[in-house]
Amino acid sequence: RQQEEPVAAGAPSTGKPAVTPESVINLDHGDPTMFEEFWRGTGSAAEIVIPGWQTMSYFSDVGNVCWFLEPGFDHEVRRLHRLVGNAAVDGYHVLVGTGSTQLFMAALYALSPPAGAGAGAPMSVVSTAPYYSSYPAVTDFLQSGLFRWAGDANSFKGDAYIELVCSPNNPDGTIREAVLSSESGNGIAVHDLAYYWPQYTPITKRADHDIMLFTVSKSTGHAGTRIGWALVKDRDVAKKMTKFIELNTIGVSKDSQLRAAKVLRAVSDAYELPEAREEHRLFDYGRRKMAERWSMLREAAAASGIFSLPDETSGHCNFAKETASTNPAFAWLRCDREDVEDCASFLRGHKILTRSGSQFGADPRYVRVSMLDRDDAYDIFVRRLASLK
Ligand code: PMP
Repeated sequence: RQQEEPVAAGAPSTGKPAVTPESVINLDHGDPTMFEEFWRGTGSAAEIVIPGWQTMSYFSDVGNVCWFLEPGFDHEVRRLHRLVGNAAVDGYHVLVGTGSTQLFMAALYALSPPAGAGAGAPMSVVSTAPYYSSYPAVTDFLQSGLFRWAGDANSFKGDAYIELVCSPNNPDGTIREAVLSSESGNGIAVHDLAYYWPQYTPITKRADHDIMLFTVSKSTGHAGTRIGWALVKDRDVAKKMTKFIELNTIGVSKDSQLRAAKVLRAVSDAYELPEAREEHRLFDYGRRKMAERWSMLREAAAASGIFSLPDETSGHCNFAKETASTNPAFAWLRCDREDVEDCASFLRGHKILTRSGSQFGADPRYVRVSMLDRDDAYDIFVRRLASLK
């Protein structure tokens, strides 16, 4: 056995290993390491120091519905939404979660009738296919009696349901609205707006749905901080979601909230402070970078001739104040070769790991490819793709 190198306390890991031209390129997860380059350039703007005696209490704001919410994080969340104009915050409760994944589970818990109530059938959870592969996985993994996965919203029959609306959609980048509308009032939508930020899509309206989920994983790229937030209109729903997190993890890391607050503050400061430098504007950087990657990918697909991609769309972005194209965080890539029925295994044979369409309730001729990896991996990916015939 090899002797393990001692790791210094406080020395951070670097995430996925570095790649070489021969490496297997893993674009299965949406790991947002693309943003590292930007944050390396921002100096101390997003840095925090936490002395040993701080953030020790379980509690943050005992008068708030979300009693473990750091007020500084609440403040920066509201400030950023006001700056970007992507979501309404006035009249909303801000809830914090360990990633938006925990808030998604909290929403399922809060919106399902309590065990023992009524007929006792679990609440149906649906989303239009292709849907984010975690929705069925997370909904059913504990086989709850409160809710269960019921598949594609388009083929759902019934009036008691939770509809998950992801917009722009993971995996295919489309802009979506709820497809079900409940006359009887037993259906409710949860809007997952993880990608509703200017680097991915034009901001065309201020979203004001009942429950909206966001995450630093996709907005700033800090997936490892594990911080998400929900904007929730109804106080009782906000209380039940808070209860879920209380029972699940007794709150959310304050250290992470403080870091997330500082990161969001650095994003807003770069647009609002007069002395801010242009190269520190996250959304400008992200939009430029994503547009460049999409154009590389379209060229590679054209050079190969066996792949197709969703058409590029654009719209007026109220934040950028100009027409902007959509640059989804994932490419929904179709292999058009007649003899290839499973695109993910075809690409795996060429050392490119992607997620099969079948995991999103769709055709395995499609795969989802992360567009958010580091430059070196992305460059090898597009070169390999272009060479496939
Ligand atoms: N929603 C969507 C649509 C996502 O793509 C992701 C991350 N892949 C999440 C939620 C989860 O984000 P978090 O890291 O905040 O748990």
